[in-house]
Amino acid sequence: DDRVARIASSIRVIPDFPKPGIMFQDITTMLLDPVAFKDTIDLFVERYREKDISVVAGVEARGFIFGPPIALALGAKFVPIRKPNKLPGAVISEEYSLEYGTDKMEMHVGAVQTGERVLIIDDLIATGGTLAAAIKLLERVGANVVECACVIELADLKGRDRLGDKPVFVLVSST
Ligand code: 5GP
Repeated sequence: DDRVARIASSIRVIPDFPKPGIMFQDITTMLLDPVAFKDTIDLFVERYREKDISVVAGVEARGFIFGPPIALALGAKFVPIRKPNKLPGAVISEEYSLEYGTDKMEMHVGAVQTGERVLIIDDLIATGGTLAAAIKLLERVGANVVECACVIELADLKGRDRLGDKPVFVLVSST
């Protein structure tokens, strides 16, 4: 699909952010190109249009950029999966490990019902720890996670291996 080349070239790489040695994939430059941004949303919507998705779950923070337009186009709800202590209502939370220490993500109780078909969205999969925790959170409430979708995959980190048999769809694979 020739839309993918434009999307890939709209993403800027910033060396040594947030710390030395990290090549940060910056999607904010894609948001400055309305064609690349729209193509990104369209490619996801085309893939999931006939998949009976009733929930798009977006992972904080950049899943909040891509998730809502996809949810609106699919006629699905949007559910934010947030960092700890941000959601005001009752939450369920899932702890996950980082390079140093642990983090947590939270979702409102009652946002997703048992048996709902969920698409999880984030901007990027690196080690897969974030998506693995999001999948667990949704499965704990009885949801059926159909697929995870990201704009970018850092393929060398083999994040997919951490998600078991859960499929991940990506637009741009970076090495
Ligand atoms: P993982 O848990 O797969 O190791 O890391 C993925 C999470 O970290 C995602 O939520 C993603 O937004 C963030 N992340 C890690 N590296 C990058 C990067 O280079 N660019 C962007 N935009 N996000 C990153």
